[in-house]
Amino acid sequence: MIPMDVGGRVGRLRTVLGAAGCDALLVTSLTNVRWLTGFSGSAGRVVVLPDELVLVTDGRYGDQARLELAGVDGRVAEGRNLAAQLDSLVDLVAGVRRLGLEAEHVSWAAHQGYAGAFGSELVATTGLVEGLRLVKDAGEVARIETAADIASEALAHVLPLLADEPAETEFETIVAAGPNGGFPHHRPDARRIVEGDLLVVDFGALVDGYHSDMTRTVAVGEPSPERAELLALVTEAEALGVAAVRAGIDAKAVDAACRDYIIAAGWGERFTHGTGHGVGLLIHEAPWVNATSTDVLGEGTVVTVEPGVYRGGLGGARVEDTVIVTSDGCRPLTKTPKDLSCLR
Ligand code: ZN
Ligand code: ZN
Repeated sequence: MIPMDVGGRVGRLRTVLGAAGCDALLVTSLTNVRWLTGFSGSAGRVVVLPDELVLVTDGRYGDQARLELAGVDGRVAEGRNLAAQLDSLVDLVAGVRRLGLEAEHVSWAAHQGYAGAFGSELVATTGLVEGLRLVKDAGEVARIETAADIASEALAHVLPLLADEPAETEFETIVAAGPNGGFPHHRPDARRIVEGDLLVVDFGALVDGYHSDMTRTVAVGEPSPERAELLALVTEAEALGVAAVRAGIDAKAVDAACRDYIIAAGWGERFTHGTGHGVGLLIHEAPWVNATSTDVLGEGTVVTVEPGVYRGGLGGARVEDTVIVTSDGCRPLTKTPKDLSCLR
């Protein structure tokens, strides 16, 4: 697997701190902590100082943290309990005039605690690490692509099982058959998957913390003309969306590429969600691909394109690919063909 450039990340973060009005940053989002340091534990905060990075965690994670931070210019401080960890943080930020907090990840109570303990001026920041996370390095892309390949292989193993008319609950993912396909995020229930259904399968895998995300709509047996038309409509809309993706395009233009086609066919009101989202350490992350998004797709960003149309009792169809944005287009990371059927 291509290595990730974890060590280079804190330097890039330091270059954006000044513009955000802070001299140092306290990173409290565990996802951001992981991206910045490689630390994958469930408790840890990172202080990014002008010349030092320190991960403050508890005794359970000391050894793990030192291993995972091996490629990062930083050190680990262990505090037995929350009070001891706060003491460490107070010492670390003692000389900091303006300390940035991640406003979207700090609770009111935590903010009150920091305000009482730190001598620094606290500065609300938003999206500093998230902004850097938008563009994936080659190692991150390799992990997402490997996850996508694993998921594709899993689907290939599962498809033949549909002939036995299993219940949706026999799968631990979004599996929505027949009328249940009319609900975009339906949870599997006891309904059996039967001949004639459109089966919406939305699933992914995880490699080193990186997600993949793919949806295919499988025709079980011979679909009715109405269902076949629904599936063809969504498949074409998705292809139009993928064709629109390239570096520099407004995310909302990709949404429009899918949505306008579905609207023209008369089903605009049944396309009830945004077209896509970024994928990385989170299954849903920036950028957002929808009608009101102000995001612009950058080269190296990984996004999904996933239009769907949901027609109640008739069922639903959604097709989703995860792609990496390139200078002149995009490259799909999810490679399972679209025309899946399961004949019996
Ligand atoms: Zn999905
Ligand atoms: Zn998705």
